[in-house]
Amino acid sequence: MPRSQATDLYAVRENNLSLVLNMVRRAGAISRADLVRQTQLSATTVSALVNVLLESGFVVETGIGESSGGRPPIMLAFVYEARHVLGVEMGATHLTAVLMDLHGQIIGRQYQQFATLANPTGSINQITQLLQMIIAAAAINPSHLLGIGLAVPSPLDGENLDQLSTVIMPQWAGYDLKATLQPLFKLPVYLENDANAGVIAEQWWGRGRDYANLAYIKLGTGVGSGLIVKNEVYRGDGGTAGEIGHTTITSDGPLCRCGNRGCLESFVGAPALIAEVNQHRQINGEAAVHSINDIVAAANQHDPICRQVIDKAGAYLGIAIANLINLFNPGLIVLGGELAAAGNLLLTPVHQAVTQRAMSKAASEATITTSQLGANAIAIGAGTLVIHHAFQPANLGLTLGMKGR
Ligand SMILES: [Zn+2]
Repeated sequence: MPRSQATDLYAVRENNLSLVLNMVRRAGAISRADLVRQTQLSATTVSALVNVLLESGFVVETGIGESSGGRPPIMLAFVYEARHVLGVEMGATHLTAVLMDLHGQIIGRQYQQFATLANPTGSINQITQLLQMIIAAAAINPSHLLGIGLAVPSPLDGENLDQLSTVIMPQWAGYDLKATLQPLFKLPVYLENDANAGVIAEQWWGRGRDYANLAYIKLGTGVGSGLIVKNEVYRGDGGTAGEIGHTTITSDGPLCRCGNRGCLESFVGAPALIAEVNQHRQINGEAAVHSINDIVAAANQHDPICRQVIDKAGAYLGIAIANLINLFNPGLIVLGGELAAAGNLLLTPVHQAVTQRAMSKAASEATITTSQLGANAIAIGAGTLVIHHAFQPANLGLTLGMKGR
């Protein structure tokens, strides 16, 4: 047989294997007959593919399913604990690392405050330590780890997905997170923009499960959005789609770290909000706040300044969200990051601004809400990236071969 034909056959098998594996994963439990129906592959082919999955430990035979007349079928169940993945959120001022099963359940977590933007070497060492601590503390077989996902506070160039932006993170020029961590852990490493990781997490495990078009807005030191359009992350031509933090709110506003004036981030980014609260607090002779968490906690205790600052942030954010709705018409917009913990204190002014400014039909149809996944959303999304890649046809050989390594 010519080599190319053999390669083609191998590719067909990997495609079918990926199809069946993902189908069982999504269903949780499914019969061989339903797999045949849904894949439109032959019963013999499905049976052979299922045998590979049974042997790999990803799938087990379980109880008896509903009979549709004849003999009740044996069900195939996906084993969500068969392998594990690591996800890391690198924020500007913190690191969150999680260990998850294949159902997005966190079984280990480490958090560390750390100023990452100006300290690449320190950040890489810190990430390494956090991951080693999680692996050491967890009761899992380290050879069952499928990979590491890293969410970074930087747009990633579509052509060159491993390079951080030298505009947003100039001190990281020349550092390669993937090339450093991959040999250290002997695992595949995948990079993703943090807001993109957030929207992936929301669609896989959060409020976005029933939506094909949705956005996640990360409210942190930086402000960014991840967009899913027709079930695919929308990156744009050069990977910078969704940079909502650098859309202009007012043409003569405060200077932003991107060099422009009046960007959304310069109004609602954590440094701006903290500075604004502290300006008032200094005048009133009150103790300074140090984080968005401090501001949200004080607002929940009815602190009038903190409430006012969150209210104003919501109004600015609402302008940007109205623009987003007019441009993309998403069905769902999820707010994440520390500020999202303010809940209705933030959502109420957002809704007001959106109602006022967005095209009424699109605005009334869009659900705007805060993340159910909370502070871990982006780290969970980073881990999810590994699951997504591990079950792609091209990576299945490695993924299935990891058994008993
Ligand atoms: Zn900007």
